[in-house]
Amino acid sequence: MAQPGGYTVEHTVAEVAGQLGMSPLDIIKLDANENFFMPKGTIQRFLREVSEECDLRIYPQEEEDRLKELLSDFLDVAVGRVVIGNGSDELIQQIAHLFLEKGDQAISVKPTFPMYKHSVLLSEAEYLEVSLNNDFSIDIEGIMSLINSRTKLLFLCSPNNPTANQFPLNKVVSLAERFPGIVVIDEAYGEFAEYSAISLLDEFENLIVLRTFSKAFGLAGLRLGYAIMNPELATPISKRLRLPYPISSISLRMGLKMLSNANLVKEGVEQVKTERTKLVERLNQISGVKAFDSQTNFILLHTNVQSNKVHQYLLNKGIMIKNLGTVLNFRNCLRTTVGEPEMNEQLLEALKEICGGQR
Ligand code: PMP
Repeated sequence: MAQPGGYTVEHTVAEVAGQLGMSPLDIIKLDANENFFMPKGTIQRFLREVSEECDLRIYPQEEEDRLKELLSDFLDVAVGRVVIGNGSDELIQQIAHLFLEKGDQAISVKPTFPMYKHSVLLSEAEYLEVSLNNDFSIDIEGIMSLINSRTKLLFLCSPNNPTANQFPLNKVVSLAERFPGIVVIDEAYGEFAEYSAISLLDEFENLIVLRTFSKAFGLAGLRLGYAIMNPELATPISKRLRLPYPISSISLRMGLKMLSNANLVKEGVEQVKTERTKLVERLNQISGVKAFDSQTNFILLHTNVQSNKVHQYLLNKGIMIKNLGTVLNFRNCLRTTVGEPEMNEQLLEALKEICGGQR
C-alpha cells in the first residue's frame, strides 16, 4: 500500500528572503493561491475588535453555533447542513476518515489538489485517479468504469486546482446521479467562479460541498473552512469525529465578522476577477508563455523554457510561484496566484526576461 506523502510547503518566505538577503516584506508570494485583495488593514482592525469582544480564558462555546447560523442565512441552507472545520483541509481528512475503511476505494481526477490523495491514503484506502482530457474537461465514463463494490468516495475540485476551470453543472449533476457513494465537490475557489453546487444539495443526499474562508475571504492564516451536506452526514462529522473545541474563538468570531461584511468580500472578488482577466491577457502577450483561462484566483501557464529554470529565475528575484512541470499534455507548467497589480507587473517583467519578449 502506498504511504501518504508529506504535505509540505516547498519554500517559506523566510527561507527565500534569507537566501537572497532580502526583507521578507519584499518577497512576492504568488505560490499558494492566497488573496491579497482583502485589505490587510481592515482584517487587522477586525482582529482588534474581535479580540476585545472575546474572553480567551474560556473555551469557544456559542461562537460556532452563531457562525453556523450566519452561514446558513448567507448560503440559504438549513443550519443542520453546516459543518465547520479547522480549514477545509481538516474537513477533507474527516470525510475520508468517516467514509473510508481499509481496502475501500476513492476516486478523483488528475491533476488536482493533493490533499485528497493524502487523506485517502491516511485512511488506508486506495486512491484512483482519472486524467482530465487535454481541454481540462472531465472523463465521466473513465470515472464510472473504475467503480466497484469498494468505491465509496469521489473528490471533485471545481473549480479545479491547478487547472483553474470549473466543471459544467450538468457534469456535476451527472456524477451525483450516477456515482454510488459520496460525492465531494471542493469549492475552495467557488466564489471566483460561475455557479455553486450548493444549489444541488436538496436534490442529492450523497453530495458534500466544501468551502473555505482562506480564499475569497482572505483569511488563510486563520484556518477556517466549512462543508454543507445532508444533516445525516453532518451529524457524525460534528458529533463523532471532532475534538471538543477544534476551532479557536478568534477564528470563529473573525468568520462572523467577515460574513457581516460580505460586501467587502464581494468587492475583493470583483477586483480579483478584473486583475485575472488582465493578467491572462498580459501573460499571453509574452512570446514563450501560454496562460489558460481561469475561474479562480490563480492562473495555470506553460512556458517554452523549462519550468524548473523559470521557477528558479523568479525565485532569484524574490518571486515565488508554483512549479508543476508536466500537466497532462503540457510540459513546463507553472501556477501563479493573481496578485495585486504591482506584484503582477514584477512577475510579468521577470517572465519576459526569461521566456522571451513581447509577442
Ligand atoms: N481545497 C483546495 C482546492 C485548495 O486549493 C485548498 C488550499 N490551497 C484547500 C482546499 C484548503 O483550504 P483551507 O485553507 O481551507 O484548508
